[in-house]
Amino acid sequence: MSHRIAVIEGDGIGQEVIPAAVEVLESLDLDLEFVEGDAGDAVKEATGEALPQETYDLAADADATLFGAAGETAADVILPLRDAVDSFVNIRPAKAYPGVNAVRPETDLVFLRENTEGVYSGHEDDLSDDLSTLTRVVTTSASEKLAEFACEYVDGEGFSVVHKANVMRKTDGRFRDAVVRVADDHGVDTDEVLMDAFATRVCLDPEQFDTIVCPNLAGDVLSDLAAGLVGGLGLLPSANIGDDNALFEPVHGTAPDIAGEGVANPMATVLSAAMLLNHLGYSEESDRVETAVETVLAEGPRTADLGGDADTDEVTQAIIDEL
Ligand code: ATP
Ligand code: MG
Repeated sequence: MSHRIAVIEGDGIGQEVIPAAVEVLESLDLDLEFVEGDAGDAVKEATGEALPQETYDLAADADATLFGAAGETAADVILPLRDAVDSFVNIRPAKAYPGVNAVRPETDLVFLRENTEGVYSGHEDDLSDDLSTLTRVVTTSASEKLAEFACEYVDGEGFSVVHKANVMRKTDGRFRDAVVRVADDHGVDTDEVLMDAFATRVCLDPEQFDTIVCPNLAGDVLSDLAAGLVGGLGLLPSANIGDDNALFEPVHGTAPDIAGEGVANPMATVLSAAMLLNHLGYSEESDRVETAVETVLAEGPRTADLGGDADTDEVTQAIIDEL
């Protein structure tokens, strides 16, 4: 079955790492059709809109989207794009690869973060000169949906539920109850960890965790903390999954300090492309791409962020040769 992939480079090194990842995907000779869309600062300057309707539609209609990064307009691009793919879970692996200088080289975690509500639901108000409030939204339905996804994702293993239901009894209590109930129904083991305790425990001993299911803000902060444990943003992929659609993007941004020089590390985007393959059912090819990245990480060539002097093209070609 043919799959249509929307490809949105965006700004900065997005224009370098996305073509690299597409080259890797093309080298696999799968039945993938790539369609390009524009978004970001340059498009806003030219047209007044950071995310033209046709790019939104492209992402909404595609089987999956590969997105790079947007600069100043990041929020105007990525928030609607996540909406275009109707994403309810953000998957963020944090894995320390051999040969990379990581604070905790034994780290191998995946965060499954609720992607639609919590404190990021947009319900903020200024009530007086002195007072602003935020309404935290948690629904049983969104929590259950995340948990259903998590049960399938862990494929027979258990997962950790991270929350703060001892203080936020109604909201995180609802989240915790829904997630644990769904896991129980599926015969999936869960352990509960309070989010503050999790922050300490994951730094001291990341191996005690595997898959972490958490509300929106906790997932945002704790997955960035885990990024620190594995050596920073340069190698981290991510996925936003919806019912019939999904968007894959590197965790890093436009890297304006190195943009245009052809020296960006394409690996975070190539690993995002590997997640895309897995999502479309090409799990064997996905594993092959990840293994190729691991081999190149171990044997070189490397870009400057990893202490090497290779450019984006050389690393991309090395990954393709490995495949
Ligand atoms: P943005 O506002 O778009 O996020 P930023 O200035 O925060 O831009 P990031 O893209 O988040 O920059 O990157 C932070 C740092 O990590 C920069 O110094 C950047 O050069 C480096 N970096 C990020 N991604 C890569 C990459 N793929 N290869 C090499 N270096 C990278
Ligand atoms: Mg940034």
